[in-house]
Amino acid sequence: MKHSPWNWINPELTELQTTTLLKYKAGEEQLSALFGLKKGFTVTKCCNRNWEKEMAPGKKGILERLNAGEVVIGDGGFVFALEKRGYVKAGPWTPESAVTHPEAVRQLHREFLRAGANVMQTFTFYASDDKLENRGQNLKLTGVQINEAACDLAREVANEGDALVAGGVCQTPSYLSCKSETEVKAIFKKQLDVFLKKNVDFLIAEYFEHVEEAEWAVKVLKTSGKPVAACMCIGPDGDMHGISPGECAVRLVKAGAQIVGVNCHFDPMTCVKAVKMMKEGVEKAGLKAHYMVQPLAYHTPDCSCQGFIDLPEFPFGLEPRILTRWDMHKYAREAFNAGIRFIGGCCGFEPYHIRAVAEELATERGCLPAASEKHGNWGAGLEMHTKPWVRARARRDYWETLKPASGRPLCPSLSLPDGWGVTKGHTDLLQQKEATSKDQLKQLFDRTKNQ
Ligand SMILES: [Zn+2]
Repeated sequence: MKHSPWNWINPELTELQTTTLLKYKAGEEQLSALFGLKKGFTVTKCCNRNWEKEMAPGKKGILERLNAGEVVIGDGGFVFALEKRGYVKAGPWTPESAVTHPEAVRQLHREFLRAGANVMQTFTFYASDDKLENRGQNLKLTGVQINEAACDLAREVANEGDALVAGGVCQTPSYLSCKSETEVKAIFKKQLDVFLKKNVDFLIAEYFEHVEEAEWAVKVLKTSGKPVAACMCIGPDGDMHGISPGECAVRLVKAGAQIVGVNCHFDPMTCVKAVKMMKEGVEKAGLKAHYMVQPLAYHTPDCSCQGFIDLPEFPFGLEPRILTRWDMHKYAREAFNAGIRFIGGCCGFEPYHIRAVAEELATERGCLPAASEKHGNWGAGLEMHTKPWVRARARRDYWETLKPASGRPLCPSLSLPDGWGVTKGHTDLLQQKEATSKDQLKQLFDRTKNQ
């Protein structure tokens, strides 16, 4: 029998009854009353059931969850994960594979859902018209086509479990090239129109290096009436103009964001530190907000304010810096203890990293993700291993205290990051439609030699 939330609760339920319930958008309370479910039982407590498409109306919204103090787990960074799988080109980093390879995008959503994610972010990073024209894709796909396809994929998978769909926008080449506030806002509005047509559950403005542009994005998204989250891609040093995390957060809350935080650019502990500074700033200003964090899955202790983009290993040699699943346990606990309740990941995160976050917070969330069936807490599955010395690793204190080797005897433990110090307004950063010419590239290569 096909599973739906309704016939899973009561297998006798007919299709007509199901349709009637859907028509009246029965919520959990009504369902409990109708089917005499135990007190305290809620449908959303059962993670990753194979629910019908129409479940969304009965789900709790993002603010409802955060207001109730629930932990919300985010997904990982699609651009990096799909680049490694061969569906995104590094450089442009644009998401046209939502149209050209929907099966790859759908599968990654499913893996994050199975790992415990409660949020399916639309794969719309750099899907603004100006970026698509500016960087690369020659398929003649419109921004609308890509954004619509991404919304459909996120919704399809979100409806298979307890996840919400978040429409995402990020920084634009128009801002870097000093276009006006009106022009930049019009770019965000085009993406928002698609998100509204596709009825996403909430909105995220993420990956902003300049708080001014993030404020513009929040103000546009706010016009929709849907909940808005805003993330800067900054560390404790603040944005590219040196504006502190605390001040950035205050400005974003004043612009209308109900959830603020940071994503990308830095390792988990650095990002948590930056969000703590945001929280202090917001509280000091007498304002209120919820907090989120979606860091890199790479160790970046050597980064300065531009984050991992300055690292010599960016973007094709970062693997030795990847966090283990056990590092993710520590991250999840640190974020939770800091009062952050929307905890996810960005570049470098694979589904097993999110599963580790979900396993660390299993008690607080009241459930384990479906993917934990194939894991076992703290290495418990190794009890079944053939070799006795590996069976001896089936315990928490082994994995919790492990110091992993990189396997590279001559590797430095830290790198010397680039530090060109260019930002908005600098000629080097003006964005052009044409591919970078050989002459322009030579100038850049020469400058690298002189650094
Ligand atoms: Zn990222």
